[in-house]
Amino acid sequence: MQLPSIDDLGDISGKRVLVRVDFNVPLADRQGTLVVTDDFRIRSALPLFRELQNRGAQVTACTHLGRPNGAAVDKYSVKPVRDHLDSLIDGVDLLENLRFSPGEEGNDRAFGVALTDSYDCFVNEAFGVSHREHASIMVPPTLIPSAAGPNLAHEVETLTGLLTNPLRPFVAIVGGAKVADKIGITKVLVDKADAVIVGGGMAFTFWKALGRSIGDSLVDLSRIDEVGELLATGRVHIPDDVWALPVGSPFGVGGEETPSHFVGNVPDGFMALDIGPESAQRFAKILATAGTVLWNGPMGVFEDPRLASGTRLIAEALATSKAISVVGGGDSAAAVEQFGVAERMSFISTGGGASLELLEYGDLPGLRALRGE
Ligand code: AMP
Repeated sequence: MQLPSIDDLGDISGKRVLVRVDFNVPLADRQGTLVVTDDFRIRSALPLFRELQNRGAQVTACTHLGRPNGAAVDKYSVKPVRDHLDSLIDGVDLLENLRFSPGEEGNDRAFGVALTDSYDCFVNEAFGVSHREHASIMVPPTLIPSAAGPNLAHEVETLTGLLTNPLRPFVAIVGGAKVADKIGITKVLVDKADAVIVGGGMAFTFWKALGRSIGDSLVDLSRIDEVGELLATGRVHIPDDVWALPVGSPFGVGGEETPSHFVGNVPDGFMALDIGPESAQRFAKILATAGTVLWNGPMGVFEDPRLASGTRLIAEALATSKAISVVGGGDSAAAVEQFGVAERMSFISTGGGASLELLEYGDLPGLRALRGE
């Protein structure tokens, strides 16, 4: 996809450049002061800031932080983020939380105009928000010369490249809790990939479509027909054995009960919460010969050590395979981190929702804005 780059901004010496970043970072209270606990997103923007400064520009960044819902809420002030940024680089300003105004999420043009007013150029380096039609994403490119930041451009290249020219066999893994969230992308992937592995809570809607008993596992009865069509392609691989807990037995944080292993069916009163060892091995074999793997969503409730083995085995299989491995956002990124294999992935996407939408639709509102469409 052709996106304008910062080179296309021409000579920016002496110009004021507004950079939209995604500094929606985790904060924690340390002795009454909020501090940044994971600064990966901030550090990732530093090369761009330095490059702009080297070219003589004066850099101002802007971000959202949390969900203040259009009001100035103290605990969502960017102050701790600004302090952290100041400790990493000199001379980059950070504007107050964009979402303190309802105009940001409302894509209010007047808000966007006021935001852009003091600047000569705009750079969007916030891939994770570029699926949102928010004022700071949509309005500046209509007013001043605008470019894609290098991280955003790289992320777009990697994800769109997967669908246009993947090294085959191309294997996709989808998991996580809700079929409704992932059915659109699963359809696209069944079309483009050689094999699609379905795990996590999603898998039991597939089981239901095959007439298997699922006990009290997650299911979306409104999607049975669609899921049946996907199964009919013969390219979808689902688990056959699972780990399950009795309904009401706590899991996630706390909980002591040892999960039970079931093959093919889950009895009433049980909820399946991880794929079992045979399924994990079967999936790992598929991954071993893959040329490209896209992974979005865990195989089970991996946050709970009793229900993490399926996700762990997939993470490790991916780490040892020679495939180009792309991990798509949120929970799967947390999983590869948790299992210590993040470094061995080819690419970890920063934007969960944005990466799914880009894969599903091939474009995003914020990218169209940058292209002047
Ligand atoms: P998502 O946001 O849709 O990717 O879902 C991620 C969440 O799904 C994780 O927090 C997992 O704990 C949860 N999850 C994975 N497998 C299951 C399952 N079989 N039943 C319920 N929740 C699950």
